[in-house]
Amino acid sequence: MVRIEGLHKYYGQHHVLRGIDLTVKQGEVSVVIGPSGSGKSTMLRCINLLETISAGRISVDGQLIGYREVNGRLHDLKKKEIAAQRREIGMVFQRFNLFPHKTALQNVMEAPTQVKRKGEDFARTQALELLDRVGLAQRANHYPAQLSGGQQQRVAIARALAMEPGLMLFDEPTSALDPELVGDVLNVMKDLAKSGMTMIVVTHEIGFAREVGDTLTFMDGGVVVESGDPREIIANPQHDRTKEFLSRVL
Ligand code: ADP
Ligand code: MG
Repeated sequence: MVRIEGLHKYYGQHHVLRGIDLTVKQGEVSVVIGPSGSGKSTMLRCINLLETISAGRISVDGQLIGYREVNGRLHDLKKKEIAAQRREIGMVFQRFNLFPHKTALQNVMEAPTQVKRKGEDFARTQALELLDRVGLAQRANHYPAQLSGGQQQRVAIARALAMEPGLMLFDEPTSALDPELVGDVLNVMKDLAKSGMTMIVVTHEIGFAREVGDTLTFMDGGVVVESGDPREIIANPQHDRTKEFLSRVL
């Protein structure tokens, strides 16, 4: 479903991603951990076309991301094609970024009606189903400020799902939450994983990685240090850097 090969990213002189390889199969949950500044967000942003890549390639569902290959040469996609690719990928950020002046329901309906041109009735029915799925059917008419951080994040997940993406990216979705609100968000993500969604999840929640992850990837300094079965890596990390990191977050 996702294939990242030799991905490099520079910000000016700053070499942030230094040859990342990562493969995620259909229906798998790929958990990514690593210290702050190791390039996790940058990698997700490259997959989601929020950044251009400096070298290497990413394909999602067999489609090259951001480029078209003609006779072995890469050509940039047009804005419209990039928008179309981005629509296939849902992203949930650490900060929920809901529209403050719209209700939970309106937030979830926004993209389907504005971007996908779905009818209001269809979009409303779908949005209510999604809010129910994330446990917020009773909060549909609340504004973000009337919701807890965990509830806002669940609305953000419902909003991403409303675009019916084939792939969901999560960038530290629970890092900004009070500890007692983390569980509900992780449970929604667990249910989503069970439903067969392909997911890449950057998180420090090692319990989630162990329980839900199909693979665990440890990044440091813009490279993948080790990757494999989460339970094996957590129990028996092969590299000192992984050991040291895990000892800090466990
Ligand atoms: P992580 O998510 O693992 O904490 P990031 O991907 O956010 O790491 O950042 C990796 C490195 O790239 C950091 O050193 C950060 O300062 C740098 N960086 C991230 N975004 C930008 C940017 N837009 N411009 C310049 N440097 C950036
Ligand atoms: Mg980050």
